[in-house]
This record gives sequence, structure tokens and C-alpha cells, in this order.
Amino acid sequence: TQFTDLGLAEQLLKALAAEGYTTPTPIQAQAIPPILQGRDLLGAAQTGTGKTAAFALPLLHRLLNQPRRMQPRSVRALILSPTRELAAQIETSIRAYANFTTVKSTVVFGGVPVGKQIRALGQHVDILVATPGRLLDLVDQRAVSLREIEYLVLDEADQMLDLGFIHALRRIATLIPAKRQTLLFSATMPKPIRDIAGAYLTDPVEVSV
Ligand code: AMP
Repeated sequence: TQFTDLGLAEQLLKALAAEGYTTPTPIQAQAIPPILQGRDLLGAAQTGTGKTAAFALPLLHRLLNQPRRMQPRSVRALILSPTRELAAQIETSIRAYANFTTVKSTVVFGGVPVGKQIRALGQHVDILVATPGRLLDLVDQRAVSLREIEYLVLDEADQMLDLGFIHALRRIATLIPAKRQTLLFSATMPKPIRDIAGAYLTDPVEVSV
């Protein structure tokens, strides 16, 4: 399979060509088609397998194909990441893939002043990449609303649990509409992750690399 066989929007294929990517990695080849169809997905994959593009490309495709007018400070897609480094890395990749589109992204994480993040959320944002604790601070400050979220990605879910984010995740889940598409990626699939998958995913496609 080549990226051109997957039915992705032309603007995304252009970005992939600019990045020099021609062939999907195994996780991309397995995950992109069901995500494009709107299915929930449970992915067992480590960092380095290309999992960022595996969720970012079909997400961007779906956002592009269903334009929507949003309330101020509302976002359409939320990607939760355990660490600031990973969050920043994911957002950088999304920016590259969205380069030839009008889709806007931003990233928020703890350990830095909140003012710049609040200002960024005052602009139009489609995709928010966040660490769980800082996200809840910003929600409590009314800097962002999760009420119109259509897509939720839990990246490195096992790491998020190991870092003690379970209560934050539960609270975030109560703030997001139940009618949404949810993708969960984890390097390992112990029982606590299976339980989270059972609670937050609906009839997920399972992929493993
Ligand atoms: P990730 O697992 O998402 O952190 O990606 C690992 C690395 O592989 C990143 O540096 C990506 O830019 C790169 N990458 C992702 N998908 C592809 C692809 N299909 N072809 C070549 N490189 C890729």
C-alpha cells in the first residue's frame, strides 16, 4: 500500500510528499482505513512506529471533510499525552501534516506560565494537544471548552496511568460529549488499560504492531 491508495485528502498527500513519506508504516496501514470510516480504535504500538501520523492523518481528513462552525474557545479534537515533550512533538507533526490546510492546532502542557496558552486558545483552534493536568486547569479557568469535541485521542495511555492521570482522565471524559470518535494507543495492554478501553471506546477495531 502507498499513502495515495488510502483515500486521504489531496492537501494531506501533498504534505506527506513534502515530508518525503511514500509508504505507510504497518500501524498506519492498519489504523488509517478504520479511522477514516469513523470507527473507534484500540492500538497497541510503541513510539517510533509512526503512530502519530496513524491517528493525525485520518483525523485531519475527517475535520477537512466536515467543516463546522465552533463556539469561541471550543475545539473539535483533543489529543491527550502523558508528557510535555510528547505533546509538543505530536503538535509539531500535526502542523506539518496540516501545512496545506486551514486546520489549526495548538499545544498546552504544565510547567510553563499559562498566559500564552490562554491567549492561544482565544484564537481559532481545531486540534488541541494537551497534558491532562494543565488541560483541566484551563477548563476550570474557562480558557477552553470541551463541549463540542468530536474526536478524542488517548496517546501512550499506559504512561498516563503510570504518571497518575487516571482521575484527570475520568474528569476530562465527563466533560466531552459521549457521541464522539475515540482512539486509544498504548505500548502495553494491561488490565487497567483494557478497562479504560471498555469504558471509553465503542466497538473498537483493535490493531497491534
Ligand atoms: P512516531 O512513532 O509517530 O513518533 O513516528 C516515528 C518517526 O517516524 C517520526 O520521526 C516520523 O516523522 C517518522 N514517520 C512516520 N511515518 C512515516 C512514514 N510513513 N514514512 C517515513 N517516516 C515516517
